[in-house]
Amino acid sequence: MSTLPSRSVAVVLGTRPELVKLAELIRLLGPAARILHTGQHYDPELSGGFLDELRLPEPEFLPGVGGRSRAVQVGAALAALDTNFEAAPPLAVVVQGDTNAALSGALAANARELPLLHVEAGLRSHDRAMPEEHNRVMIDRLADVLCAPTPGNRELLLAEGIAPERIEVTGNTVVEAVRDHLPPPRERAALLAGHGLTADGYVLATVHRPENTDDIAALTAVLGELARLGEELPVVLPLHPRTRARIAAAGLDPLLETVTVLPPSGYGTFLALARHAAVIVSDSGGVQEETTVLGRPLVVVRRSTERPEALADFAELTPPGPGITTAARRRLAEGADGLRRLAALPSPYGDGGASLRIAGLVETAARAGRTAGDHSSVPAGAAA
Ligand code: UDP
Repeated sequence: MSTLPSRSVAVVLGTRPELVKLAELIRLLGPAARILHTGQHYDPELSGGFLDELRLPEPEFLPGVGGRSRAVQVGAALAALDTNFEAAPPLAVVVQGDTNAALSGALAANARELPLLHVEAGLRSHDRAMPEEHNRVMIDRLADVLCAPTPGNRELLLAEGIAPERIEVTGNTVVEAVRDHLPPPRERAALLAGHGLTADGYVLATVHRPENTDDIAALTAVLGELARLGEELPVVLPLHPRTRARIAAAGLDPLLETVTVLPPSGYGTFLALARHAAVIVSDSGGVQEETTVLGRPLVVVRRSTERPEALADFAELTPPGPGITTAARRRLAEGADGLRRLAALPSPYGDGGASLRIAGLVETAARAGRTAGDHSSVPAGAAA
């Protein structure tokens, strides 16, 4: 537990994956953590239940962000954070990943010259069509301490001219999130039985990225492939509210006839379903990491990924279309041997100690502070 003063570390977040990946760090910070939730995921299915399940204290919610355009989200959260930081300046600010909430937190910290730590620094898809890619790059430019999950992420940051002393390879906090929240075997067995599923005998799918949901052709292609797979074995689809709305608007419900649709699952339930899936089909970022801890094969429904570490063994990338079924069938054909092989591989995302390492870095940064006008860590030539 941190010895920093109460509420002295601002943890700015706004979405489901940030709650998952910052939960252990927040627990380690204890009363020192001040959780500021931008409301980017304002849907109770993606936020409220998660706070309880992850044993997180009630955050302060910032007004006026959820459901707005990206620019308005960032602007509104930035203004609200600035007011918050002015009223009670934190000793350090923590953001995670690549969301609009994280970018707002980074800009707010920078504006008030507060030490900024970026958890999950150095991920790059090199796909400039993704808003998240721009968010990541901007946050990494601003952060004082960049917590890179893997040595590969560190290399990417160095190649961009980030000074090595700003970068720490910490591992990814997702490893401990999975370890802490995967239900025990007996509970998992009961959960599977409750859904009429057999271990290693079904497909688990998630779809939520705008390029797969907001483009009707892409959404039709993804659902069509899940429907094909659903004729061969059970397909379970916890449906993200965005996707549910798009399916209804486009009249695509008939494609779900062979698929078991669930509401978005709680984290433990989702991990249990993922742990025993014969193959997972998903466009999620976090699932690409979790699958390496759970040792399950994954078909990533995307054109690019900022998480290449999973690609070597656990995952393959395919855009919406028949490649989904082809890749899934290939993985299914590997059967029990394939699953045993993956289960024996270590996760490339570390040893489960990332949150502890990051808590130490937060402590150091908060105690050191950051002096106004200290440009020593700006890479040479950056101001040109
Ligand atoms: N997740 C969950 N329930 C679900 C679907 C996903 O708990 O029904 C978890 C998943 O395990 C992962 C996180 O939500 O930890 C990923 O969130 P999302 O896919 O929304 O975001 P991304 O990781 O793509 O940024």
